[in-house]
Amino acid sequence: MEKEHALVPDSLESHHMHASPLSDPMQITSTGLLQFLDISPDALVIINPAGTIVMVNRQAEAVFGYARSELLGQQLEMLLPQHLREIHTAHREHYFSAPRTRPMGVELQLVGRRKDGTELPVEISLSPLLLDGLPHAIAAIRDVTQQRVAERERIQQLQHIRLQTELINLAHDAILVRDPISRVISWNRGAEHLYGWTAQEALGHLTYTLLKTRFPISRSSVEALLEQEGQWEGELTHTRRDGTTVIVESRWVLVRDETGQPLAILEIDRDITERRRKAQGEQAVHAETVEHLAFLQQVLDALPSSVYIVYGSDARLLLANRTASRVWGAEWLTDQPMLEFLTSNGIEIIDAQGRPLPPGQFATLRAVQKGEAVLQQQETIRHPDGSSLPVLVNAVTLPSQHGFHARQREAGEPTPAAEPAALVVHQDVTALKEAEYLKDEFVGIAAHELRTPLAVLVGFADMLLTQTTRGHGPTLAEWQQEALGEIQQATVRLSKLTEDLLDVTRLQAGRLLLQRTPTNVVPLVQRVAAYLQQTTTRHQVEVHTTSTVLVADIDARRMEQVVTNLVGNAMKYSPQGGHVIITIEEETTAQAMCIGVQDTGIGIPKQQQAQIFGRFMRADNALAWGISGTGLGLYLCRELVERHGGQIWFESEEGAGSTFSVSLPLVSADQGDREVPS
Ligand code: ADP
Repeated sequence: MEKEHALVPDSLESHHMHASPLSDPMQITSTGLLQFLDISPDALVIINPAGTIVMVNRQAEAVFGYARSELLGQQLEMLLPQHLREIHTAHREHYFSAPRTRPMGVELQLVGRRKDGTELPVEISLSPLLLDGLPHAIAAIRDVTQQRVAERERIQQLQHIRLQTELINLAHDAILVRDPISRVISWNRGAEHLYGWTAQEALGHLTYTLLKTRFPISRSSVEALLEQEGQWEGELTHTRRDGTTVIVESRWVLVRDETGQPLAILEIDRDITERRRKAQGEQAVHAETVEHLAFLQQVLDALPSSVYIVYGSDARLLLANRTASRVWGAEWLTDQPMLEFLTSNGIEIIDAQGRPLPPGQFATLRAVQKGEAVLQQQETIRHPDGSSLPVLVNAVTLPSQHGFHARQREAGEPTPAAEPAALVVHQDVTALKEAEYLKDEFVGIAAHELRTPLAVLVGFADMLLTQTTRGHGPTLAEWQQEALGEIQQATVRLSKLTEDLLDVTRLQAGRLLLQRTPTNVVPLVQRVAAYLQQTTTRHQVEVHTTSTVLVADIDARRMEQVVTNLVGNAMKYSPQGGHVIITIEEETTAQAMCIGVQDTGIGIPKQQQAQIFGRFMRADNALAWGISGTGLGLYLCRELVERHGGQIWFESEEGAGSTFSVSLPLVSADQGDREVPS
């Protein structure tokens, strides 16, 4: 801020003033002067050496708001702000000691004071004057309020322009201004950075020659459009100073003067090289993917089995072959979730026992939701017309892929995150099922027919042994006794086998019926344990439980069969003996009980664990140890437990032992009130 000065006839800072060379004071008489004063556009004030105003013109009255009579005879200092009056008096006196003509306030902010107390910026020039022969001074005072305002605006504008230039330079985009024939007149830092030429180097050059611009249409067409529309937008390829090319998104605006003549062209270029390259890359990948998918579709269509690929946790269809549509008996739409497809077409999935399979157990959903590899799962597809198709389902997860979504594939958009996908193959096993049915029928008949002669064999072997012991008939040699014993044991095993076979065929045919009553399971298990303990000396069978009564609604004979089988296996597959620990626990939260049978035997190899509940399934290590068996026991156990609404599972480590567990729902309090046979 510049220092304020009042109407100062002489300033201490005289170096700010442009003093004219000493001149003789003007000689004038007051009468001659008066008529001229009013002609001046400036306010004129004449003072005598004592500082008294002796004459003023109309302008002075107008500028300061005083009537002439109020000014005459007053001190000049009345036209100053209060705080400047004293210092001014000193300056005035000093001026009169060496009077000369001087303009004041050209660079200084001089200030006057109006009658109403308001202040005004002024410019003053002082001249000495001999009025009526006496030394005086005349001050020409100009109100410069307007000029000051204009000056302030100009400064503000300049600051504004400076700021704009700064902002333009900060912009990441290249911003250039060209004259109407395309010579560079302004080139921001973004342009320097993008194209490699400094502003200095670029100024005056024709842009399209400098940048070797490649236009999407001819340059003249672009210019014609610009002239017509006032603006143009498009992609240009420019060559940088280092010879490399850059693709820019370019916007042009034509600036015209007041008469409408083109003044300049503003061009803003944004580098989109990377974006373009990426898009081109993606397009190529997309085209390739589409091609691969088409080929894959052809391969799949040629296969006799139903094959489809799904993605996402709701198993949306990616692609399916022709056989798949035949197997489902309906068209599964691309991107349609599996459950939606099934319900909208009235298709049901049934398990091997003819019960609806819960969706969480569908091979397809298990693969996408849990990442499981489901092999040879039996499912039956039931169509709305009542027909059904038994299938073996194999579902395996595919390595994560991006861009499975069909719409995204079409749009060429990338998928935000990889989704799980699975390949599912259906094998139509209708023929197999029929053969199996016939085989079951045959096995059933054979087993049934075996029962009678077996019973006879058991009976006679028994009779021979007991009657001989009692001394009826000749005494048998030791080897004969042993042979009879072997016959007896073999027949027992044979009858167990025929019983198991009969159970299997009954199960298959849905003829196995349960006779369920609420039963205390604790003594049942203890009984089985005690009985089996008698058959072995190498094993210690222990029952651990804190409960005495745990009631479940069961077929006691069948549950005995299950426990016997599990404890029997624990003993059989621990050929070197050891502890067999049976635990019976209540699971209060689940309203269930759990029976665990733990051994320290040969265990089950990892790779065979998934199949161990299958029919005729026997692990390799059991065969290697030469332990006899049929592979029917666990299959029957699972069927029986599940028909009781329970579950069976196991944990096993080869060489370390196994633990089989069975959980059964406990009966609710009101059911428990009924009589409980044990
Ligand atoms: P089986 O004992 O007549 O062969 P199961 O159906 O009872 O038939 O058992 C099927 C197979 O499971 C057995 O052959 C054996 O390989 C394995 N297995 C069952 N229980 C055990 C166990 N406690 N320890 C080790 N292997 C077992």
